[in-house]
Amino acid sequence: MNANDMIRQSEPFLRYVAEWEDKLPVLSLAELCAEPGRVAIVSVDVINGFCISGPLASPRIQGIIAPVVDVFQRAHAAGVRRLVLIQDTHEPDAVEFGQFPHHAVRGTPEAEAVPEIQALPFYRAMTTITKNSIHPAQNTRFGEWLQTHPEVETFICVGDCTDLCTYQLAMHLRLRANAHQLRQRIIVPANCAQTFDLPVPAAQQLGAVPHAGDLLHLIFLYSLKLNGVEVVRALE
Ligand SMILES: [Zn+2]
Repeated sequence: MNANDMIRQSEPFLRYVAEWEDKLPVLSLAELCAEPGRVAIVSVDVINGFCISGPLASPRIQGIIAPVVDVFQRAHAAGVRRLVLIQDTHEPDAVEFGQFPHHAVRGTPEAEAVPEIQALPFYRAMTTITKNSIHPAQNTRFGEWLQTHPEVETFICVGDCTDLCTYQLAMHLRLRANAHQLRQRIIVPANCAQTFDLPVPAAQQLGAVPHAGDLLHLIFLYSLKLNGVEVVRALE
C-alpha cells in the first residue's frame, strides 16, 4: 500500500480515536470498591527496569508511578486486599532477549518494583508474581491465583507497556472471563498505563525497531475498548 494514501485514508479514523481518548470517562474508585472483597488491582511491570534504569527504562513510563501508587493507596484504604504485582524477572539467557535488549534480569535492581511501590506500608502483603515473557499467565503463578480467587468481579489493570504487557494482561483477563462465562469487569485507567517512544531516526541509528509511543498507546487502548475492556481516563 502507498504510504501517502494510507496516511490520508487513516486521518478521519485517527481523529476519531484521538477524540475518543479526549472524552474518556472518569470512574469513581470508591464506587468500584463498594465491595472491596470483589476487587483486585493487578499491576504489571512497574519496575525499575522500565521506569528508572536500564536499556528499556522510559521517562514516559516513570510518569505512571504516581497515579499507580495513588490507586493502590486509595484502594487499600477502601479495604481492597487483592493486590497483585506481575513483574518481569528474566534469566540471564532469556529467549525474550532475542526480541528485546537485556532487561530485568533476576537478582538485579531492574527486576524490582519501583521504590515508591516498595515503600507502601502494605507492600509485603501484596502478591508478587514473576514472568519470563510479556504474557502474565504463560508459565507463571497467575493462573493459579485467578483460580483461587473466584470471588473477584472487578479487575483494575495498571502498568506498562500499553501495547505489550498491559495489553496482554487486560486481554487475558477479558478473554478468560468470556471463555468461562464470568461476569467480570476488566478496567484500564489510561493515566495508569504508558509505553515507550523510540523515534525512527534514533531506532535506525541503534539498529532497533522504531516505536511511536503516543500512537501505539492510543491504538492499543482503542483495541482494548474494541475487545470489551473498559478504558477510562482515571479513577477519581
Ligand atoms: Zn521482558
